[in-house]
Amino acid sequence: MGLFNKKKNYIRINPNRYTNSQEIAKPAVPDNMWAKCPSCKRTLYTKEIGAEKVCPHCGYNFRISAWERLALTIDEKSLEEWDTGIIEKNPIDFPDYPEKIAETKKKTGLDEAVLTGKATIEGTAFAIGVMDTNFIMGSMGTVVGEKITRLFERATKEKLAVVLFTASGGARMQEGIFSLMQMAKISAAVKRHSNTGLLYITVLTDPTTGGVTASFAMDGDIILAEPQSQIGFAGRRVIEQTIRQKLPDDFQKAEFLLAHGFIDQIVPRTELKSRLKSLLELHQQESWCQNE
Ligand SMILES: [Zn+2]
Repeated sequence: MGLFNKKKNYIRINPNRYTNSQEIAKPAVPDNMWAKCPSCKRTLYTKEIGAEKVCPHCGYNFRISAWERLALTIDEKSLEEWDTGIIEKNPIDFPDYPEKIAETKKKTGLDEAVLTGKATIEGTAFAIGVMDTNFIMGSMGTVVGEKITRLFERATKEKLAVVLFTASGGARMQEGIFSLMQMAKISAAVKRHSNTGLLYITVLTDPTTGGVTASFAMDGDIILAEPQSQIGFAGRRVIEQTIRQKLPDDFQKAEFLLAHGFIDQIVPRTELKSRLKSLLELHQQESWCQNE
């Protein structure tokens, strides 16, 4: 009888959790307790990956929001946000686009897929832009284009270096050709900034693809990248089908790009703040010498 009295501990499934009976019942695990590393595929306890969100096994840098990025990078409360409240239009009358924008704004607390402004790292002032993949995959539409252009124009006027964290699926298809036009507009503003001798650093994070890679992501004077980030223009399948060749496994990874001379350095997220600080300080000294 003892055999039948022995009580086993099973994971309990809350029967009221799913309204749709078609949906497969899953055990009730608290949200955000576990994360799966997209690189080494291991399941991790979220406390293991820390505030920096780095996989302890393979060093993959998880995607983080613009707000998390700011918290890791700049001096506390140093952000002066620029150009908020630019209203999106629906230039090609894409169905449900305005509703999608409104909903994403509410969900992310972001104004658009890029946040721009002025901030400091240990007292050194610079202009900053941070893209966020939670906002329609960090896609570049007219507002993103306008915000980044204004970032460079104001940085030029205020004689500030620009640090831009890129994370994007590319141009925003909901705005058609208008999103592609942003590439040239931003690149022109980057050039005007560069012509005055000011520094532009890009930090390519996972993923940086499409029109963003084809324009301002690769325009940096110094191009840094986070480990194992996917960086590329067209997707793997498109290229394979076009050239009819199999691509190497690490193709479009930051390490591959570094080996082929596309980027300058891979910097782990844990070292990024100090690296940016040194670069900004070094450049300030250099421009001071030139002015003497
Ligand atoms: Zn991993």
